[in-house]
Amino acid sequence: MPSRPDGIVIAIDGPSGAGKSTIARLLAERLGYIQIDTGAMYRAASFLLSRAGIELDDYSALEQFCRNLDIRLEVISGKQFVYANGLDVTDQIRTPEMSLLTSRTSSLKPVRDALLQAQQKMGSRGGVVLEGRDIGTVVFPDAEIKFYLSASVEERARRRCDELTRAGEIVSLTETIADVTERDRQDSERDIAPLRQADDAILVDSSRLTVEEVLTGMITLCRNKIVTLESLP
Ligand code: C5P
Repeated sequence: MPSRPDGIVIAIDGPSGAGKSTIARLLAERLGYIQIDTGAMYRAASFLLSRAGIELDDYSALEQFCRNLDIRLEVISGKQFVYANGLDVTDQIRTPEMSLLTSRTSSLKPVRDALLQAQQKMGSRGGVVLEGRDIGTVVFPDAEIKFYLSASVEERARRRCDELTRAGEIVSLTETIADVTERDRQDSERDIAPLRQADDAILVDSSRLTVEEVLTGMITLCRNKIVTLESLP
């Protein structure tokens, strides 16, 4: 029997633009699981911090602010909505400026501590697909299955560019490559919970694979894991 009441914890980590959100959403849909987009939670916290005008080096203001942080994710008719202290911030958190700001705010201990607790609580019953940078290493080191989803910098920047263009933003590929490279650097060089592949994570390189190809491989591994755990006495 699985040790969590609602199923297993599936951890998906990896750099920005590797396709984690798409894969996590489809995996959750097909397994009847809940998707927890932890990046959206860090973005929502950044949005509030910037709106409140809090200086990132004012540690006591940050701590006080993070004590009252309430970030919620809701899926309505297949679309994920993000609420930050009751405010719908779903669209505002997706701009390139918010991406870069989030790479900075997510290195701050009060922010990480607050969101770590929230994420562990949200996933504790299992039946969840969590995606982020530190799920398999810090948030759920005991996750039943861990993936590290990656792709080349150029491919990830190209995908991000397409996504932003579809959303009506005007962006150049060269600028996006620079942004992606800078976020990779900030995420993997920070002191707390840096981006890295957990020792027991399965590496998936999506550079030359379609979404369906990535998904098929991952879903098979997840189903095998669920069946194996269910057959345990
Ligand atoms: O996944 P997404 O690109 O939306 O994440 C935005 C930022 O949030 C990342 O660049 C990273 O700095 C931060 N993040 C994090 N830990 C997570 C998820 C996201 O530090 N688990």
